[in-house]
Amino acid sequence: MDYGKSGMDIQFLPGVGPKRAMLLDKELGIRTVGDLLHLYPFRYIDRTGITPIREVRSDAAYIQIQAEVRRVTLHGAGKAGIIDPEEGKEIKYNLIRRMSVWVSDGTGEMEMVFFKGIKWMHSRLKPGTTFLFFGKPSAFNGQLNMVHPEVDLPSNPEETTWSGAITGVYPSTEKLHNAGITGRLMVKLVDKALQTALVDIRETLPEYLVKEQGLVPLQFALRNIHFPKDTAALQKAQYRLKFEELLFLQLALLKQKYIRSRNENGIRMPRVGEQFNHCYDNLPFDLTNAQKRVIREIRDDMRSGRQMNRLLQGDVGSGKTMVAVLTALIATGNGYQACIMAPTEVLAQQHYKNIQKLLEGTGVRSAILTGSSKAAERREVHQGLEDGSIGIIVGTHALIEDNVVFRNLGLAIIDEQHRFGVEQRAKLWRKTSCGVPPHVLVMTATPIPRTLAMTLYGDLDVSVIDELPPGRKPVQTIHATEGKRPALNNFMREQIALGRQVFVVYPLIYESEKMDYKNLEKGIESIVKAFPFPPYKTAVVHGKQTNDEKKFNMDAFAAGRANILVATSVIEVGVDVPNASVMVIESAERFGLSQLHQLRGRVGRGSEKSYCVLMTGTKMSKESKHRIELMCATENGFELAEEDMKMRGPGDLEGTQQSGLPISLNIASLAKDGLILNKARECADAILSADPSLSDRKNSQLATELKKDKYIIKDYSKIS
Ligand code: ADP
Ligand code: MG
Repeated sequence: MDYGKSGMDIQFLPGVGPKRAMLLDKELGIRTVGDLLHLYPFRYIDRTGITPIREVRSDAAYIQIQAEVRRVTLHGAGKAGIIDPEEGKEIKYNLIRRMSVWVSDGTGEMEMVFFKGIKWMHSRLKPGTTFLFFGKPSAFNGQLNMVHPEVDLPSNPEETTWSGAITGVYPSTEKLHNAGITGRLMVKLVDKALQTALVDIRETLPEYLVKEQGLVPLQFALRNIHFPKDTAALQKAQYRLKFEELLFLQLALLKQKYIRSRNENGIRMPRVGEQFNHCYDNLPFDLTNAQKRVIREIRDDMRSGRQMNRLLQGDVGSGKTMVAVLTALIATGNGYQACIMAPTEVLAQQHYKNIQKLLEGTGVRSAILTGSSKAAERREVHQGLEDGSIGIIVGTHALIEDNVVFRNLGLAIIDEQHRFGVEQRAKLWRKTSCGVPPHVLVMTATPIPRTLAMTLYGDLDVSVIDELPPGRKPVQTIHATEGKRPALNNFMREQIALGRQVFVVYPLIYESEKMDYKNLEKGIESIVKAFPFPPYKTAVVHGKQTNDEKKFNMDAFAAGRANILVATSVIEVGVDVPNASVMVIESAERFGLSQLHQLRGRVGRGSEKSYCVLMTGTKMSKESKHRIELMCATENGFELAEEDMKMRGPGDLEGTQQSGLPISLNIASLAKDGLILNKARECADAILSADPSLSDRKNSQLATELKKDKYIIKDYSKIS
C-alpha cells in the first residue's frame, strides 16, 4: 500500500502537524495516510438508534442516549461527602471517588456514574453540552443510571462529505484526547485521508478472486468500513477485509507446507513390519475406528518418502498412547529408532510402563531416560542408543541433552506438545546421524478448535481421534461450595468403601506460590482429619517434592495402596488410574476451562460411574461462573475449547499462549469468523495447489502482498 498519497507522512494531512503526528504514531502506530485508512472503527454508532431516556429500562442491553449535561457532582472518599470546588480553586482529583453526571434529553433525566478517569471526564462533560452516551443501563436504589458509559460527541453530518446514518468510533486514548485528537477529529481526519489517498489505493487481490469470491473491491471496502452507506455496505466491507486478511494468513502458512512437501525428503518406511503386526494382533481390545483411521493416515505419511509432520489431537482418554506405540513399531519394523518425549517425569514413567506391556513378544528393546536416571543406567542407555540396540526410548527433556546420540532416529513422538519449546524440538531433530530428518508426530490432548489449529499449525497435517473407546461412562460433574463439605466427605467415604479412589486437586498459580502451598497444606490437614489413618490412606504429590517422593506417592496411588491422592495440578498431565472414580477440584474458579477439562479426564477411565466435583467460593466473577456452568453442561472437549476461545480470545487459550499467532490480525477474529476462515483456507489451498510458488501472472498481486513484513511469519511451527 505504498503507492502515491497513501504513503504520505501523516503529519502533512491537514489538521495533523508534527506534534499530533508523533502522538498518532506513539499511541496508535499510525505513520502514513495509508495507516490511517487501515485503522478501522471498533464500533459504529447508528444515529437512528437513539433511545429516549423515558423508554430506558434497567434490564435493557447496550443502548445509546443523546442528552445534555445538566449538573455534575463529585463525591470524596469516605465521609468527605460531596465536594464542591470553590471557584478558581484546584480540585484534588486523587480524593474523588465518584462522579455523578446528570443528563437530560427532554424526555427524562438519568445519572451517568464514573469511578475512574474522573479528571478527564470532568473536563469534558461541561453542563450545557450534548453527548452520546453508550452503555448498559442499570438501577441503583430504584434510580436508573449508567456506569462508565462510552462518551462521544454527536457527529455533525455537514462536516463530512458523507451523509450516512452510521458513524465509526475510533480507538482513542487520554493523551490523544488532550492533544485535541477527539473522536470527532478522528472522523474528520479519516474523511480527509480517504479524499486524499483512496484513489491511489491499489487492489490487493487478483480480479479473478474478487469475482469468484463475490467480494467488493478494496476501495469500496475502505470507504464503507469508515463511512458505511448502509448496514449492507458495511457488512460487505467487513467481509472483504476479513477475507483478505485471513486469506493472506493462510497463504503465508500453507506456502511453507507446499514448499516443504516438494523439497524435503523423508525416510521411506515401506513396511508395516512384524513387530507392528505382533503388537496389533495381541491388543487386549479392538482399536476404535478413529484410532484405525489415524494409524492409516500416519502409515501413509511414513511410506510416502516425505517427512511426516503431523499433529495428533485427541481428547483425554481417547487412546493416543496406543497410536504412539504402533507408530513407533512401524519405525522399528523398518530398522529405525523411535523416541517418545513426555513433558514430566511422572508421565514418562507411566508411558514406559504401558509401553513395555505392549511390546511384550515383539523383541523390541525399550528404555527410559529422565533427569533422575542414575549414572550407570544413563551410560547404558546412551550406549544402546548409539549402537542402535534400543529401538524405542521414552524420556523427558533428558533426551535432548548434548551427549545423547542416536544411531538412526527415524521417528520422534512428542506428547503434550505445548510444553516443549521450538528450540528443544529442533535440537532433537539434529540428533539423527542418518542425514534425513525424522518423522514427527506431535500429540496433544488440549482440544484446539479447528479454526485455531489450522492457523497455529497451518503447516502441519492434523489427525483427530474424535471417538472415545467404548464402555466409558460419562462423568457426572457437580458444582458445590464450602457448605456442602460434610456431604462431599460422606460421598468420598461411600466411594472409598466401594473400593474406588479419589483425586483432590489444588490450583497452583505461580505468582502466589506461597499462598498456594499454604492452601495445599491446609487442604492436606483437613483431609487427613476427615480421613484418618487407619483405615484411610492419603498420598500427596506436589511440585516441592523430590522426584523420588513424587514417584513413591504416585505409585502408591496407582497401585491402589492409597485411597486419596491430594495433588497440585501436576497430575493434570496424563496419569492413568482407572480405579479412580472421583475428581475433586478445589478453588475450581481459579482454573481455566481446558485445565478443568484435562483434570476431569483423569476419571471416567474405568468401567465405574465417575464424578467430578468443582468446589468454589460463593462469590465468583461472571466469567468463572460461566466456566463452571459449562463444565457441568458438557463433556465435549472441543465444545469447551470453542467456548474458551470465545470467552478469552485465542491468544489466551491455554497451551497456545507461548506460540501465539504468527501474524497479528487487524479486523478478523479467529473466534468469531470461523466460516470466513474456512473459506479463506479452501481458497488458499486451491491457489497454491495450482501455483505453489505464486509465479503465475494472475497471482502476481498475491506474491507482492505476501512479501510484506507483516506476512513474514515467525518460524515457530516449522518443526523440521
Ligand atoms: P490419552 O493418552 O489419549 O489420554 P490413553 O492412551 O492413556 O489416552 O488411553 C486411555 C485408556 O484407554 C488407557 O487405559 C488405554 O489402555 C485405554 N484404551 C486405549 N484404546 C482403547 C480401545 N480402543 N479400547 C479400549 N480401551 C482403550
Ligand atoms: Mg496420554
